[in-house]
Amino acid sequence: MKAEALKGNDYRMTIKTRFAPSPTGYLHVGGARTALFSWLYARKHGGKFVLRIEDTDLERSTEESINAILEGMTWLGLEYDEGPFYQTHHFDRYNEIIDQLLGEGKAYRCNCSRERLDALREEQMKNKVKPRYDGHCRGKAISPDEPHVIRFLNPPTGTVVFDDMVRGNVAFNNEELDDLIIRRTDGSPTYNLTVVVDDADMGITHVIRGDDHINNTPRQINILRALGKDLPVYAHLPMILGDDGSRLSKRHGAVSVMEYHNQGVLPEALLNYLVRLGWSHGDQEIFSIDEMIELFDIKDVNKAASSFNTEKLLWLNQHYIKEDKPDRIAHLLSPHMGNRGIDPATGPDLVEVARVQQERAKTLVEMAEISEFFYKDYDAFDENAAKKNLRPVAKEPLLKIKEALQALDDWSPERLKQAVDDVAESLDLKMGKVAQPLRVAVSGRAATPGIDETLFLVGKEATLRRIDMALAYIEAREQQ
Ligand code: GLU
Repeated sequence: MKAEALKGNDYRMTIKTRFAPSPTGYLHVGGARTALFSWLYARKHGGKFVLRIEDTDLERSTEESINAILEGMTWLGLEYDEGPFYQTHHFDRYNEIIDQLLGEGKAYRCNCSRERLDALREEQMKNKVKPRYDGHCRGKAISPDEPHVIRFLNPPTGTVVFDDMVRGNVAFNNEELDDLIIRRTDGSPTYNLTVVVDDADMGITHVIRGDDHINNTPRQINILRALGKDLPVYAHLPMILGDDGSRLSKRHGAVSVMEYHNQGVLPEALLNYLVRLGWSHGDQEIFSIDEMIELFDIKDVNKAASSFNTEKLLWLNQHYIKEDKPDRIAHLLSPHMGNRGIDPATGPDLVEVARVQQERAKTLVEMAEISEFFYKDYDAFDENAAKKNLRPVAKEPLLKIKEALQALDDWSPERLKQAVDDVAESLDLKMGKVAQPLRVAVSGRAATPGIDETLFLVGKEATLRRIDMALAYIEAREQQ
């Protein structure tokens, strides 16, 4: 028992995953899902999660993108145990490894001209063979002083086989693989080399990434073998598609994580949505972070691509908005009110507003929109609501309720409810015939929380002022 427990513990200690984005844009939802799966796998096994910024493409990498990635990770709560590491800080190490490979005859200099490579390619295409470098410079003594690239000497024969945690057994023929360039003419190392060096140096045990990298894996395995390093376990995640079946991209709508933040999606809703993209646990849809950590397993990830469904994300978001504590929702809602030019300090307690609106909005942006009237007079009535409810028959109920509310000294939801009921009774009307015109009068809208809570939060002064606005509107209509 004891030995087993120790073994289990040792196993957990060794798990290390990483998220390795190239900072050439915002944090994409596909990237965020990769990060989430890597993070969950590490958390589940008590391992470590590393963030590595792959910024070696100096032309396309930007500071702005690095910040967007870090911001997205923080917002989602995908905290990393190590990093962020920057590949541009590791150039000496990459060169050291390249020199080692050169010294051991596992890499070589190549000075083939662009013209030669183009001609080779053309010839291969003509003969219907897969274009690849022909090893022309293998074994040639090329001076380091003349312009050259460095190529990895890929094993010419045999197969590279690996057991992918998602795809199962994957095999590639070495004959299909090139002697790939590991250092460009300008001295910069290439992606397959830098990834291998960092994964090995950082002790990454599980490489979890998008399946757009699956063709790179045999090349990386060959380099790792040439360096005498242990191989990580690979898991290649299936693509995410848009609603038309093509790879998810901007034209399908928001794909940046922070765009969802700006739209008022809660991070836990986005995480819950992302975890279900390609993974399931029975027919369960709602997963807290703790449940995800407990139940998630890479082995259960689907091989097939999954489709992004904004409706479902909004459904989850609504669920989390409804379930959360009003004070947290208020805290998250506040900047969205600010975006509408509203300072929540100038009106009712935002926590109370959040509490009455929690059931009524799919996003925080929507919640801010439907809550604006608590803080300022609306600019115009919702046309349909006004047409339907602010008609001459509403005049008397509005006048009566105004009178009753004016006289009210205790502006409490109970007393407000009572006042509406009393007016309805005195006019022999159903409660709605008083409450609905009143609702449109105070909010400008057809739908709000309960009339008692709505009036309570709008406050006496604004309620009376807006009833007058509604009466004026009815009179203006009458004169038309
Ligand atoms: N930097 C690569 C990318 O953003 C990922 C590399 C990897 O995960 O191995 O696509």
